Amino acid sequence: MNELATPVRAGLDVAAVRADFPCLHQMIHDRPLVFLDSATSAQKPRRVIDTVCEVLRHDYANIHRGVHTLSQRATDLHDGAREKIRSFINAASEREIIFTRGGTEAINLVAQSFVRPRAEPGDEVLITTMEHHANIVPWQLLGDQVGLKLVVAPINDDGEVLLDALAELISERTRLVSVAWVSNALGTINPVHEIARLAHARGVPVLIDACQAVQHIPIDVQALDCDFLVFSGHKLYGPSGIGALYGKEALLEAMPPYQGGGDMILSVSFDGTEFNELPYKFEAGTPAIEAAVGLGAAIDYVRSLGLDNIAAHEHRLLAYATRTLNQIPGLRIVGTARAKSSVISFVLDQLHAHDVGTLLDLDGIAVRTGHHCAMPVMDRFGIAATTRASLALYNTEGEIDALAASLRRMIERFG
Ligand code: PMP
Repeated sequence: MNELATPVRAGLDVAAVRADFPCLHQMIHDRPLVFLDSATSAQKPRRVIDTVCEVLRHDYANIHRGVHTLSQRATDLHDGAREKIRSFINAASEREIIFTRGGTEAINLVAQSFVRPRAEPGDEVLITTMEHHANIVPWQLLGDQVGLKLVVAPINDDGEVLLDALAELISERTRLVSVAWVSNALGTINPVHEIARLAHARGVPVLIDACQAVQHIPIDVQALDCDFLVFSGHKLYGPSGIGALYGKEALLEAMPPYQGGGDMILSVSFDGTEFNELPYKFEAGTPAIEAAVGLGAAIDYVRSLGLDNIAAHEHRLLAYATRTLNQIPGLRIVGTARAKSSVISFVLDQLHAHDVGTLLDLDGIAVRTGHHCAMPVMDRFGIAATTRASLALYNTEGEIDALAASLRRMIERFG
């Protein structure tokens, strides 16, 4: 059982949490910043900032190389972060945790080192309509490289995947089912346990894109029984340029390296190379040392608050935001799944999303506008762009009110 299931303490003291995030406390266009763009990248708590600074100030050297004290200290800190990730997602072994630059690189690694060597022309990877480009384009590249076909499970008008249709699309040609746990564009929480069960019943491995889940939902990869899981550190209040791939050890063991270089070898001669053991086999070159340590600090921070407490706070906020925005005439929420997490995408009848985003910024409110790197799901809803407010542990009902008031003002003026 993942220990994250147990709350650290009941409730979340949002005022205290906000005090942990220096970047939140500033004026934008003479208004207090309202940061509603954490699904794109979250702000960083002091604990992460201080940890990264401390590594650079005091503990920095290259890792896995030197016998000298600083190198050993940096190595311990870096590898300690791997253990924090392992424990956070309840993987069985540190050998199953590969540091990557983020979720995108992790999916590309699986595409090139797992699917590509196994794929015959006409073989398939099954995804859903709501995937981020990071879970579309790597498979399309395999289309050119090995003739792989992308198969897409449909969604309904609420933005929920049609499970029966997905099950029917799993065939003997399916090499992998690869789905987002939470959609960044719609907020839908996909039934990934059920999807993993359906795929495994047909003997097909499963990749879970947890980029929008890891900061909201306790993860237990053993209970989920996924074959691969990816996430990015920067959405989990950690630094950018760092993320992780979880893979079942037997699968990773059988996969060829993704990139070649230093650190991923045991010995090299001009006649050939013996590769290092897991997880180093997949970590060529000097890694993002201070970012990995910072990600470890982010995990410590989130655990100290309790992911269940965070999820409960965000769930209340999402319900409040949904009620509040639904009262605005001419506003339509895109993505109305029964199970949703922390994202509200919407369109306004008479205003383009980019204009909405620009006008909100003038009121100090940061949202994301556009296709959210999920153009196919925008096509599915017949729209080019939405405005997306995304909620995190530091957001408040007052900030939702500020968003709603700003939207009402702009509708009166320009709508
Ligand atoms: N998948 C999903 C669902 C995402 O939201 C994102 C980031 N927006 C990614 C993958 C890619 O993450 P990154 O850009 O950090 O690699």
